[in-house]
Amino acid sequence: MAPEPQPIRHHPLSNTSSDIVDIAIIGAGAAGLMAAIFAGRSAPPGTKIVLLDGAKKIGAKILIAGGGRCNVTHDVVNSADYFGGTSNNTVKKILKSFSVSETTEFFRGLDVELKREDTGKLFPTTDSSRTVLDALLKAIHHAGVELRKECRVLKVQRDESNRFVIQIDHAMPLVADRVILATGGKALPDSGSDGFGYNLAKHLGHTVTETWPALVPLVLQDNNWLTTLSGITLDVELTLSGKTGKALYRQAGPMLLAHFGITGPAAMDISRHLRDYPEHAPRKLTANLCPDMTFDELDQTFLDLAKKHPTRSVSSMLKRRFPERFAEALLDRHLGIDFDLPLAHLNKEDRKAICHALTALPLPVVGDRGYKFAEVTAGGVPMTQVQTATMASKTCDGLYLCGEILDVDGRIGGYNFQWAWCTGRLAGLAVASQYSTEPQQ
Ligand SMILES: Cc1cc2nc3c(=O)[nH]c(=O)nc-3n(C[C@H](O)[C@H](O)[C@H](O)COP(=O)(O)OP(=O)(O)OC[C@H]3O[C@@H](n4cnc5c(N)ncnc54)[C@H](O)[C@@H]3O)c2cc1C
Repeated sequence: MAPEPQPIRHHPLSNTSSDIVDIAIIGAGAAGLMAAIFAGRSAPPGTKIVLLDGAKKIGAKILIAGGGRCNVTHDVVNSADYFGGTSNNTVKKILKSFSVSETTEFFRGLDVELKREDTGKLFPTTDSSRTVLDALLKAIHHAGVELRKECRVLKVQRDESNRFVIQIDHAMPLVADRVILATGGKALPDSGSDGFGYNLAKHLGHTVTETWPALVPLVLQDNNWLTTLSGITLDVELTLSGKTGKALYRQAGPMLLAHFGITGPAAMDISRHLRDYPEHAPRKLTANLCPDMTFDELDQTFLDLAKKHPTRSVSSMLKRRFPERFAEALLDRHLGIDFDLPLAHLNKEDRKAICHALTALPLPVVGDRGYKFAEVTAGGVPMTQVQTATMASKTCDGLYLCGEILDVDGRIGGYNFQWAWCTGRLAGLAVASQYSTEPQQ
């Protein structure tokens, strides 16, 4: 039997009278919102700008960011804080286009005061992400941009007049002269950023490099003793080294032990590098738990203490520096050394084994927790395919790209939002300048 014909479902927010627009921005995350604000503010009156997003609720990532406080940016932002297949100079130019002080000033203009914390991270003084999101949404409204939620874009193609025809799920297609693609990457896919934007970019002539989760917790081998110490934080220096033992990348900072493996700033920051350097495979990750001492200094400390306090236990010495649970598990479970053993009875072999464990503790990483737990995506549309000054596509006239969709990812600390603010602003200003002969600020 032939299937019942289905009624055509029109989107509740679609409006057939406004389906031809000047500028369509796809993706209302940090980059898309910023692009919308600057496009709306700079384009001449009457320019029709719409901001489309597939999500029902806008700004999921802004709300969740920084533990609900939104780490808007960092006090000091340099090109060295970013990675990806692009030159330092390109990133530097883009960061320079909208400095941290200009960013702070911009947010002040939206009534969002930022405060600097000891780590250098900048947060809203309200300690609430909601302040940031509400201010951005208010600003797009004031800039005259129409926000359309629940508008999942399925396809973007050119028509015979070279305009963009945007196919939207359950809604009339939208025709636009110019398009800004700000669909993010694949991190936190439930938020709506599931990587589909890469398909849209490919359809418009771009390529996409290999992508993988970055700023992501790392999974250790099953039954690794560290996974029983969930909740313990250690200050470490992590080293990623290649098959010859050569250090490829180092990252200092706090590392948090979890039931699956390791997380916290140091582990998350180094995560994207674990897939780098394929020519050096197999690579291994180790933690130095005493970054302020060399192996020999540590060894000498043990010898000195054994002389001074021969009856004290080995674990009592470790407990002066590390949490008790960690000190006991390191000796007992990892090294098989009695933690009540007096220092005077510690033989040379065991002493060296402890020093090795404290300066180069093996972290047998078997994978990561995937995009669901990642804060950002490594890889994306190569920066060589966009004009640095305008974010305009070099392969598709009238198209602009900004934010995480590009092959640039930053460290933890507000750097990824700064990238979104900078690139979104550039794209918004550039697209608006196409409608005006007036010089843009
Ligand atoms: C848990 C978490 C915490 C974070 N904390 C911080 C932090 O404190 N500081 C910091 O600097 N960075 C942080 N980040 C990273 C930061 O959120 C991102 O780098 C940034 O949001 C990227 O902005 P974007 O606009 O490029 O992409 P996104 O924010 O991912 O926005 C893309 C938007 O496009 C929409 N979209 C995607 N595909 C389509 C489609 N086909 N049709 C219509 N719409 C579509 C999505 O719904 C989404 O709204 C965090 C990330 C996560 C996951």
